[in-house]
Amino acid sequence: MAKASKLDKVRNLGIVAHIDAGKTTVTERFLFYSGRIHKIGEVHEGDTQMDWMPEERQRGITITAAATTFSWKGHEVHLIDTPGHVDFTIEVERSLRVLDGAVVVFSAVDGVEPQSETVWHQADKFHVPRVAFINKMDRIGAEWTNVIEQMKTRLGATPAALQIPIGAEDTFKGVIDLVAMQQLIFSGQEEEAPEPQPIDAALAGEAEAAREKLVEIVADVDDAIAEKYLAGEAVDTETLRAAIRRACVAQKIVPVMMGTALRNKGVQPLLDAVVEYLPSPLDVPPVKGSRPNNPEEIVERPPDDKLPLAALAFKVAMFEGRKTVFLRLYSGTLAVGDDVFNARLKKNEKVARLFQVHADKRERVDRVGAGMIVAAMGLKDTATGDSLSSPKDQVILERIDTYEPVISAAIEVVNTVDKDKLEQALAKLVDEDPTFRVRVDEETAETIISGMGELHLEIMHDRIEREYGVPTRMGRPQVVHRETVLGEGVGEGRIERVNPEDEADLIFGAATVRVRALPRGSGVKVKSEVPPPSADLPKPLAAKIPIATAAALAGVKEGVVTGPEGYPVEDLEAIVLSVEPRENVKSDVGWRIAAQTALRKAIQAAGPAMLEPIMDVEVVVPEEFLGAVVGDLSARRAQIEDVGFRGQLRTVNAKLPLKALFGYSTAVRSASQGRATFTMRFAKFDAWS
Ligand code: GDP
Ligand code: MG
Repeated sequence: MAKASKLDKVRNLGIVAHIDAGKTTVTERFLFYSGRIHKIGEVHEGDTQMDWMPEERQRGITITAAATTFSWKGHEVHLIDTPGHVDFTIEVERSLRVLDGAVVVFSAVDGVEPQSETVWHQADKFHVPRVAFINKMDRIGAEWTNVIEQMKTRLGATPAALQIPIGAEDTFKGVIDLVAMQQLIFSGQEEEAPEPQPIDAALAGEAEAAREKLVEIVADVDDAIAEKYLAGEAVDTETLRAAIRRACVAQKIVPVMMGTALRNKGVQPLLDAVVEYLPSPLDVPPVKGSRPNNPEEIVERPPDDKLPLAALAFKVAMFEGRKTVFLRLYSGTLAVGDDVFNARLKKNEKVARLFQVHADKRERVDRVGAGMIVAAMGLKDTATGDSLSSPKDQVILERIDTYEPVISAAIEVVNTVDKDKLEQALAKLVDEDPTFRVRVDEETAETIISGMGELHLEIMHDRIEREYGVPTRMGRPQVVHRETVLGEGVGEGRIERVNPEDEADLIFGAATVRVRALPRGSGVKVKSEVPPPSADLPKPLAAKIPIATAAALAGVKEGVVTGPEGYPVEDLEAIVLSVEPRENVKSDVGWRIAAQTALRKAIQAAGPAMLEPIMDVEVVVPEEFLGAVVGDLSARRAQIEDVGFRGQLRTVNAKLPLKALFGYSTAVRSASQGRATFTMRFAKFDAWS
């Protein structure tokens, strides 16, 4: 466990890349090289593991854990898994939020691809410092200068190459380190990085020019270097390194490294860059949260062990058969046996075990401090995205109300014998992913799954079959709606009939309910305004009033879960105005049913309306296509909220209904010759005209 004084040696790191750029290969190398360091001591004890081929060792490596810890040159690196699909904006944003810095892997052949553009812009939004790695330098067509150019034009970034390659494509054999001015030649075999050598005379001129360029880029954003540069003074290695670190942490430049992970060339220098240039938890601004009982009160939590606990559950997964919650601690400490307050559940949960996942083992720890990443067991009901804090000093780090699933589909098993298995699989998936929901439709008895988008449901459908071995059929995805009312209305309900199960008993109930529209985002408020029984009412009847009122309230609360059109009711106040008592009625079910009928009639009288999911969309686009993108959005009846700048690129923020976004990714690409990227997230349910 890292002491507070050691926090500057901690790196909470993510690797992001377009699919196939080499994220998995780079990750494997990171874990392999760092694992190798552990093994050196064991060689003296006659351990034969050194004889293992890298590939064999890698098979045992845990690369699927949500967070893997390894050490590199006295630093503790927590490698946080970032979601593969950029479509789940909330998941990507959450992972960007818990990491302090990222390595972005590009392919030297394919350059900056659309998916990397999207994640890059999200990382800009969340102020995540980055180091770039240009991978696949061994491949035919590898052209690192293209990638640098694309980083400028497509990403609006300021790349600073800290290396230039030695050799190209199949003769690529190493790099010149422009900071220390030395060269590294990789054989592709060694476990340790090669010894640095003086730069070959033949490459000296090119190296000098490239370093000059690097100093110039850094001088542009750093006064200390600018002074030396303008005075024509030489910049020594340490001064330059410190300036690169400042500029990287401040997101003014992106240090660029290069190599080929597959051929084991250039990975150790990349790890060096991670610890040298990316921030520690101490280098990033304190996290902000609010109070569960007062959303207006903003609290800041710097990484300090002495402050009360504030942590975010960024991933829930089954790990070695047990429910495991991966946490990022922002402030305070967390120990085994601690009670922590879960702001969503509004209750405490107890931490049974804490551990860190390493490449080849897991290590139990008793206590972790601020800034750390840890896996916890024992948090039975905690879900992804939950905030955990000290029960005595409660905070919410993430808004909870943005997890509204907007697309739903029916799902059914292919073989009836699998019914229970499907139920269990769905329960586990819901636990892992707070944006995924399951319910059973009361009328049709169908199982309905809902989530953030069509692709989300397709992936879940696929996982149920692949991971849980349950073949299922999924119906056509549909947009989820909400119901509400536009005005005010009153309805009456009454039921009176002989109980079919007991002829001596009567099912009776009668109630009046009034509903009224509330502003958007108010939710549902249910209350009673049933007057107290009048003095002349016989006692047995008077005694029935509170029972009938409670039953009517329960009926209304059930009734708003599924409105007249089958969707949840929102933004309305429902008041039980009166109940009619009756003696000798055994059960209170009649008043529940009567209240539900009254509610339905009241909604009809108040002018029912449908609300649809409205999304927040952000498009990042080069200036020349701004007009086309805005025009297309307007044609979709979007409400344009902001047009701004991000580096050399333009941003457009707009709100529009989800149904107007079908096919949008194709449209936005053709409006911008493939240069625009966009992200969307749920904003609210509303009527849209
Ligand atoms: P991911 O999708 O980003 O995780 O990418 P992978 O690490 O799975 O790599 C995708 C493909 O590229 C695999 O076939 C890798 O073997 C290959 N690959 C990864 N790194 C390199 C490299 O440096 N050079 C070459 N030639 N191939 C690579
Ligand atoms: Mg992969």
